[in-house]
Amino acid sequence: MPDLKLLWEIQALDDRKRDLENKLERAREEEELKPLKADIEEGGALFNQIKKEYNDIKKNQKAKEMDVKCANEQVKNLEKRLYDGSITNVKEMNANSKELESLKNTIRETEDNILVFMEKQDELRAILEKMSIRLNNKADEYRSKHRALLAEQDKIRQLIAQIPLSREKLVEKLDGETWQRYEDMKERFNDPLARVEKATCMGCRMGITFNELRMLKHSDDLVYCSNCGRMLYWEKQG
Ligand SMILES: [Zn+2]
Repeated sequence: MPDLKLLWEIQALDDRKRDLENKLERAREEEELKPLKADIEEGGALFNQIKKEYNDIKKNQKAKEMDVKCANEQVKNLEKRLYDGSITNVKEMNANSKELESLKNTIRETEDNILVFMEKQDELRAILEKMSIRLNNKADEYRSKHRALLAEQDKIRQLIAQIPLSREKLVEKLDGETWQRYEDMKERFNDPLARVEKATCMGCRMGITFNELRMLKHSDDLVYCSNCGRMLYWEKQG
């Protein structure tokens, strides 16, 4: 068997290139970051929903405060009329008192509502603050992981870029005929060259014959696996 060590090294380089390209493809898809991104988007949507609820309550509170202000004005006017002598008969006096009482009740109820709104706002504000901290932390985590991923992609690209030159140097040293045979077989196999270990073709994992083994060790011809057809490579010991 001719010395196929160079050819074996070339094939190993091609394997490595394929592995790196697959790794780069996976890194591009950002699989690892997808759940985190979804988590952040979901959290952001929930945050906005609660924020809207908070703003609505705040708006309602403002409206209620305006109601109380108007009602207080009315109370002031009614009280003024009660005591300034402009009311002259009992009927009118009673109607006035009744209206005044009703207004005061309304004011009390509205002020109770306002208190409830304020408590609810405090509660929501605390929730929003906690959510905001959590979301910011997750966004930081995403950014740092994304940066690491881009750095990894760069590293893989650099490693891939180094392969062609190393490969070319090896091909130059190889005899043309062996190289041509190998290239032809590339149409059938990704790995036309199979290492022989413990009398087994590592390409198809089948045992090779005694004759094939003898040829590998002692002949100058190329030897092929009688099962899968791959070119066999046996590493000389010592
Ligand atoms: Zn085989």
